[in-house]
Amino acid sequence: MPDKIRLIYSKDYAVDIGNHVFPTAKYTLIKERLQGRSDFKNRIEFVKPAPATDEDILAVHRKEYLNKLKNGKLSKEEIFKLELPYSRELVKASLLCCGGTMAAVDIALSDRLGIHIGGGFHHAFPDHGEGFCVLNDIAVAIRSAMRRRLVKKALVVDCDLHHGNGTAAIFLEDPSVFTFSIHQENNYPFFKPKSDLDIGLRDRASDKEYLASLYEHVPKIISDFKPELLMYVAGADPYKEDQIGGLAMTKEGLVKRDEFIYSQAINYSIPIAVVMAGGYAFSEEDTVDIHYNTIVTGLKLFYGKS
Ligand SMILES: [Zn+2]
Repeated sequence: MPDKIRLIYSKDYAVDIGNHVFPTAKYTLIKERLQGRSDFKNRIEFVKPAPATDEDILAVHRKEYLNKLKNGKLSKEEIFKLELPYSRELVKASLLCCGGTMAAVDIALSDRLGIHIGGGFHHAFPDHGEGFCVLNDIAVAIRSAMRRRLVKKALVVDCDLHHGNGTAAIFLEDPSVFTFSIHQENNYPFFKPKSDLDIGLRDRASDKEYLASLYEHVPKIISDFKPELLMYVAGADPYKEDQIGGLAMTKEGLVKRDEFIYSQAINYSIPIAVVMAGGYAFSEEDTVDIHYNTIVTGLKLFYGKS
């Protein structure tokens, strides 16, 4: 492993969206905590992403949608569906975020682990955004790596509390990408396009149920599908005190989840790119804790003690 640990981060992710359940300040808080108290603070280098180009975006999204975003021409209905106030800053952050996940994939392919302190906007579809997700950085990054012939097959392990509807729809007929989503069944989005494997958990499912399901399915998917890249969508919202989630996981359970996914990547020698995705705990501190734990757990497993 290289001496320096490159983590992707941009201060521009902290878009002002007013009084909103989505804590856009969390990215900066995670970064500050990594700088302040992690064992790895002297080795971490924060890398600023470049915005994704039109070519990158258009490998996933429709030109008409991208034009509307760039020119401030979304309709009221489209903005309503997005559930975020439209601004130029929001569009800029979304383009940067796609570039950030692309960079995390590149780092994963060279260093085995690539972490983006951002991303995971799995509700964005080719022709529209929804559920706080403007552009699907996961799909943009995977398509970019494939266009550059860096990988032929990718696996998305989507552990956000919500179903990965946009990602599922984008890759519905694409055999080169296996989409796996484990989520709360009775929650947004109510229409769930089929992933290659969907696990819809009951309300208030516990650590035990969640982890048993991961242990049952993920190794089998990997050994059958043999991906060359694992994209881990590490949502913090399965946490029991999430404002919009309805699962009942503890922080310890979420660390076990992270450890398991990382260990799969290690055991099968698959480069792993990690994106943060959702997290809306009543206490912002808890959301930051969970994302921080995901990052530090990965660093410990891949880099050992510093
Ligand atoms: Zn979510």
